[in-house]
Amino acid sequence: MKIAHTIDEVKTLVKEWKKEGLSIGLVPTMGYLHEGHASLIERARKENDKVIVSDFVNPIQFGPKEDLATYPRDFEADCKLCESIGADLIFNPEPSEMYENNFHSYVGVNTLSEGLCGKSRPIHFNGVCTVVSKLFNISEADRAYFGQKDAQQLAIVKRMVRDLNFNIEIIGCPIIREESGLAKSSRNTYLSDEERSKATILHKALEMGKKMIEDGEKDASKVIDAVKNMIESEPLARVDYVEIVDWNELQKVNTIGGPILMAIAVFFGEKVRLIDNFIME
Ligand code: AMP
Repeated sequence: MKIAHTIDEVKTLVKEWKKEGLSIGLVPTMGYLHEGHASLIERARKENDKVIVSDFVNPIQFGPKEDLATYPRDFEADCKLCESIGADLIFNPEPSEMYENNFHSYVGVNTLSEGLCGKSRPIHFNGVCTVVSKLFNISEADRAYFGQKDAQQLAIVKRMVRDLNFNIEIIGCPIIREESGLAKSSRNTYLSDEERSKATILHKALEMGKKMIEDGEKDASKVIDAVKNMIESEPLARVDYVEIVDWNELQKVNTIGGPILMAIAVFFGEKVRLIDNFIME
């Protein structure tokens, strides 16, 4: 497996691969890799001749009060994991390599970025779309793999690719969970043992919400209230949002009919914010 820190190194390799007619799969990550990331890399490995994993904590998707400085990092462990799955290249640029001093170009997707996590993280998705666009151009990938764990991100990236005619296929991959039901996340490392066990309430509450809908509940507000109440029964948890939106435009729905996303964000303690969701087609 090759390690690249510069855009030119990646482009040189990609040029060789393209000349040989090889297909390329890209897995964009912020590192501190776990089984969730591994599932994306494994899928990319199966479906492409070459696999690139980007490992970059993207500063422009963090707000001024967010955890950019403390975001967990372990590049050596990331390399080992990628190599064990058979990735061909890990791209780990410095922020200055991706963003020159006079960087002025941003990509954004309106409407879909405004609700859910976009409400409390107003610049986040523009940062994501910008870095992802750069990675698509640098890697010339045929396919890129994103987790449903970040469902709003997945919907936004898919829409961006469609709206702006990027030549890439976006593949959504299922949420990988711990045995307790807690969705795997690099940020779980911030949780104390007690918070970690209490955080299983997110998945439990979502499962209950899903069952209500499966049992015929069509009133979104009833499902939302039940899920909110269950999470709020846990004193360590503070709800940021619990919402049901349509899975195309990510707009709130009152009556559940077509495909929906039920998404939640919950604070544990002062600074840990966990997200989880389910999609019902
Ligand atoms: P991140 O490093 O958190 O930016 O995540 C990189 C990619 O891995 C994103 O597409 C995430 O949605 C995906 N991902 C993170 N956690 C999980 C998980 N538990 N299951 C599936 N995919 C995940």
